[in-house]
Parts: sequence; C-alpha cells; structure tokens
Amino acid sequence: MKKNTQRTTNPYKYSDSNKRYQTFDYWLRSIFGEKCAKISLDAGFTCPNIDGTKAHGGCVYCSAGSSGAESGETLAEQYERGREVMVRKWGCRKFIPYLQAHTNTYAPPEVLSRVYDEAAALDGAVMLAIATRADCLSDGAVSALAKVAEKIPLSVELGLQTTNDATARLINRAHTFEEFIEGYGRLRDGVPSAKIAVHLINGLPGETRVDMLKSAADVAALGPDIVKLHLLHVIKGTPLAAMWERGEYVPMEQEEYVSVVCDQLELFPPECAIGRITGDARADELLAPLWCRRKTAVANDVDKELFRRGTYQGIYYGKK
Ligand code: SF4
Repeated sequence: MKKNTQRTTNPYKYSDSNKRYQTFDYWLRSIFGEKCAKISLDAGFTCPNIDGTKAHGGCVYCSAGSSGAESGETLAEQYERGREVMVRKWGCRKFIPYLQAHTNTYAPPEVLSRVYDEAAALDGAVMLAIATRADCLSDGAVSALAKVAEKIPLSVELGLQTTNDATARLINRAHTFEEFIEGYGRLRDGVPSAKIAVHLINGLPGETRVDMLKSAADVAALGPDIVKLHLLHVIKGTPLAAMWERGEYVPMEQEEYVSVVCDQLELFPPECAIGRITGDARADELLAPLWCRRKTAVANDVDKELFRRGTYQGIYYGKK
C-alpha cells in the first residue's frame, strides 16, 4: 500500500515534491525536460542610479558590482567558469546565461544586441536571462530584447522590490511604481514571448507586514511568469550598513520572514514560478541578519509552515 507522505498528499498542482509552491527548478524541468543551471554574468554595464543619470550612490543596499559575477573576464570566460562548477555539482547539460550585474538594458541598442547575441550563442545555453529595471526599457532596448527572443527563449528580470513609493524614495530606487507598470506593459507588448520575472525584497526600511503583502498583491495582479522573493541583507560598505550601525535599521527575524513569505506565496498566481524565496549574500560581505546564511533551514521552515496552515501558492490569488 502506498504510504501517505507530505509529497504524495501535496494538493499543490505544480510540484513533484513536498513544496507547496512552484520552485524554479520544477518550472525549468517542466519546460526543458531536465535540470538547468543559471550562470551569473557581468557584461560590464552600469546603472542610472550609480552614474548620476537618475540618482547617485545606488540603492541603499547595493554593493555596486557584487551581483554574483566578477568583471574583468569575457562573458565566455565567466560562463565557462560557472558551467564547470554546475557540471561538477549537478551534472547539468543545459544552462541559462544570466546577465545579472547592474542594469543590462542600459546601453545603446547596438551594444545591447551584441552582448545579447554573444550570451545567447554560448555553448549549452537553452534560455537567456537579463536583469534590468522597468524604467530602463527604451524602445531601442525593447527592440534589442525582441530580436534576441527570436533566437533563444528569453526571461527578463525586473527589480521592483516594493510597490510603496515612499519606501522606494527611502531606498533611492529612483523610479515610481507607476513607471514600473508602464515599463512592464511595454515589455509585455514588445516582447510577448519573454517570461517576465519581478523581484521583491522583504524587510526594507520602514516597511511593515502590510506593505510587504500589498507589494505581493500588486505584483500578483500584474500576472508575472516568475517572482523572486529576497530578504534585505545588510552588506558591508553600503549606505544601509551605516543605517544599521547607527541603529536606524533593524533586519527581519527568521520567524517573521517565513510567515510573510508564506502569506505572499498564497497571494501569487498558482502557475507563477517562484525564482527564489530568499537571497544569497557573500559570507565575507554580509553583516546582518546572519540567520539568512542557513538557506535550507529557511526553505524548510516555509515548507513546514505551509503544511501547518494547509495552504499553498495561489490559494488566495485574486481573493484578498
Ligand atoms: S538598480 Fe540595481 S544596480 Fe542599480 S543601484 Fe539599485 S540595486 Fe544597484
């Protein structure tokens, strides 16, 4: 007789494990038939919040350039280095080059197309992922994205972090939620085949649980293909680190974070992939909160909490 386990009794449709939300791994396996690995790349772009076009100093938590890839190497060299690690770790054969560092639509369209084509042509690439801001989607940039989307499946990741404009001002994001919605719509219309990912950060300065759930509900209403949930990290050398040292910023506790993430998962569309439920920070740069280094424990707590509640991703989508 088949034993009842959390896995076999899981009511959530887009899962083949005990996960009550659609993991990015599950989503990729359902599209590409096997495990795929994402490889972070730095194409050497900058950001309008850093170069002074929109703001100076970057977002308060931004460590400018430590987005996961190192500059100074060609894209192909970075990719090979990342690919070797993934082959050793997971035995992967399919890869997603990820233009992650800074704002990867912030350059003239011909420069963008050259970089996108180079990344799309990397050996073993089955999808290209491009991180940017919704206010950096000029007609030229959208057209460069549309061109590369004809060559390879494309996902475009938009850093939103919060839909609260007061918080956005406090963190120096330098664009409003209205501008985000406008850019999001331009991307949907201009590159209909692109999978759109939206990033949210929990624990931003001054935000309450109500703000975080409002951001999740606002994003759910846009119908993104992927949502990435991050925890705000205090990274050495950032303006946020100075706020934290002065006692002006207090990071979230693990229990509160898990509870908010579960509430948010319940709000997102059931078919949306969850690209992350927490973030990564380099151990030598992270000041707080230190509990986030135990990523597996956080993920396990989310699984346990959804099971305890008897809920799953999307159960309250469009209902709250
Ligand atoms: S938009 Fe991204 S790259 Fe630009 S300052 Fe903010 S976090 Fe840094």
